[in-house]
Amino acid sequence: MENKDTIIHNIEIIKKRIIRACEKSNCTPEEVKLLLATKTVPAERIKIALNYGYTLIGENRVQEVKGKGDELKDTPHQQHFIGHLQTNKIKDLLKYPVTCIESLDRVGLAERLDKRLANKGKTIDVLLQINTSNEESKFGVHPGDAIEFARQVAQFQHLKIKGLMTIGLFSAELERVRACFRLLRDIQQKIQQEDISGVEMKELSMGMSGDLEVAIEEGATIVRVGTAIFGERIYPDSYYWNEEK
Ligand SMILES: *Cc1c(COP(=O)(O)O)cnc(C)c1O
Repeated sequence: MENKDTIIHNIEIIKKRIIRACEKSNCTPEEVKLLLATKTVPAERIKIALNYGYTLIGENRVQEVKGKGDELKDTPHQQHFIGHLQTNKIKDLLKYPVTCIESLDRVGLAERLDKRLANKGKTIDVLLQINTSNEESKFGVHPGDAIEFARQVAQFQHLKIKGLMTIGLFSAELERVRACFRLLRDIQQKIQQEDISGVEMKELSMGMSGDLEVAIEEGATIVRVGTAIFGERIYPDSYYWNEEK
């Protein structure tokens, strides 16, 4: 079942969904990046998508970044980190060519990242993860604390804030999901109005396999898609969104 053609076929379907959503919402498909959410997907299957020209990937666990690093290193791609990052894993993560941490969710993490990057003489892009669904089980800064969080993170010279990330509510009621994405866009505008030095708010990373159309309608610039391309995972997502075991 899981062969090369399936992955390529699935990518084509996602591409069409993106194009259709853009037509509905006054944006161009070039403005929406497709990030492949590759947790649990073996490197050989990821490579099929990379070789097909979809080269932006995102992992949730440092362990997986590490495990696939060798096999992927000769296939051109760009890697974001989209999972909960523990401070004691920073050092390991920064050994790999990750260009953006989309899941920055606490000042303590920002501080430790900044210190390590300063030592290496490097910078990294970050998105601020906001908990727009108000679910206890999800990480991210409370919407009411987002502006203050942006101000604090902006003080770290080695972190380049590029925008916001959220995981929408898991619900079949798309209008409730839409409210999460709209909230993220509102927060984006509020932070822009603050005009904080060094803070860019261009990227809105929101929308996954089940809700990418709604996200695009609300202004997503990055959609993160796993299941609809690589198939069902054996673990429930909560496994990845909770503390690493
Ligand atoms: C797994 C994951 C996705 C992709 O979810 P699918 O429903 O499989 O498309 C997106 N974002 C994050 C943070 C994830 O952990």
